[in-house]
Amino acid sequence: MIALASVHAYIAFHLISWHVFGIQIWGKTAMMGVPSLAKGTINAAAIMVMLILGSIMIWGRGFCGWVCHMRGAIEFADWSLRKLKVRQYLNLREKNVLVNTPHRWLLRVGALFVLLLPVIILIHNVGFSPKVNVMAPVPIADLPGYEGKAFAKTAFFNFDIKPTWNDYLLAFGLAVFIQFTMSILLNLRYGQGAFCRILCPYAPMMVPLMNISPVQKKITRVAQCTGCRDCSNACPQGIDVSREIFHFDGKVINTECIKCYACIDACDDNVLKDTAAPGVPQTDRLKPYEKRPWQQELARKDGLLTNAKHMQVFEPLGPVADFTSIIVALICGGITSRFGGFWFYPGAIISFIVLRECCLYVRKWSSVLKGKTPSVTV
Ligand code: SF4
Ligand code: SF4
Ligand code: SF4
Repeated sequence: MIALASVHAYIAFHLISWHVFGIQIWGKTAMMGVPSLAKGTINAAAIMVMLILGSIMIWGRGFCGWVCHMRGAIEFADWSLRKLKVRQYLNLREKNVLVNTPHRWLLRVGALFVLLLPVIILIHNVGFSPKVNVMAPVPIADLPGYEGKAFAKTAFFNFDIKPTWNDYLLAFGLAVFIQFTMSILLNLRYGQGAFCRILCPYAPMMVPLMNISPVQKKITRVAQCTGCRDCSNACPQGIDVSREIFHFDGKVINTECIKCYACIDACDDNVLKDTAAPGVPQTDRLKPYEKRPWQQELARKDGLLTNAKHMQVFEPLGPVADFTSIIVALICGGITSRFGGFWFYPGAIISFIVLRECCLYVRKWSSVLKGKTPSVTV
């Protein structure tokens, strides 16, 4: 939490130096580095993205668990909702219920596509011109305050904000508000860390780089596991840690692992460690884990579906509703992203949640009208 809070302090420092003092050399947000790279410009932001992706070879997705500013917002949202004792969230959180969509990859790749769309259009109109210039601005520098405007140039309306402290603080507060609001909304509806599990557009870039380096550290069994499953029940990414280490030579190989170390903290027997060294062989028998396959779908009493690879549950909506909600989210996010990259998320998240809620209500009502309890379909 301290590391993630420090990242926010760094971002604030960077934005102040950029917008107030005009110093652009240190860092730019990774979000802005991806379009730079896509356009072929190696600037400070692009270097940051390459370092983040390169770090996966050694640290796995340690960036996610320790550096990502969004993760900081997500964990702050988790902390706030628990402190505020929001009943709906406590119900999810106490049992670590993590709701997901079976088609989350479509949503993640779609989000990445929407965020890169302005660059794709730029390349189409202006052409691809690779160059190295660490001071070069990003092609869509659309954080509040860029060029003295509140929103991106593509916004339907805009207004000037002068780079004074008051204007800057207002714009920065707005950006923080968007970030925390979308973390809180998603956590509240889909369980902790929902943004990482469902929507993050960086996951499609990170996941293919996982498990290809022999020196990549992974969560590893370093002592005999008792099979108590505390680690699995603690994982915010819904990874069945104790089964992973049983089936994969003592290693968590799941590409969704973000190195938050919640599993390590949860294990009272100190069985887990983040290391590239080989896992300690399991000699004590753990009979329930010896049967394969272990990734079966099950219907729960509450109507949600679960599978064991990810200890996550799925809303009992059919493929049509799933697909439609994703398309609607991408379209609405695409519209709101005209105000700037970050504005993609409120549009996408709110429309996604509202549509799925409506589908669930319609399903419930139609079942009541037919006089039967809702059945579970995939
Ligand atoms: S999955 Fe995305 S939002 Fe989550 S920590 Fe990683 S980069 Fe950040
Ligand atoms: S709890 Fe463990 S397995 Fe799950 S994401 Fe965190 S570090 Fe990875
Ligand atoms: S790794 Fe630790 S917490 Fe996980 S099942 Fe084994 S003993 Fe329990």
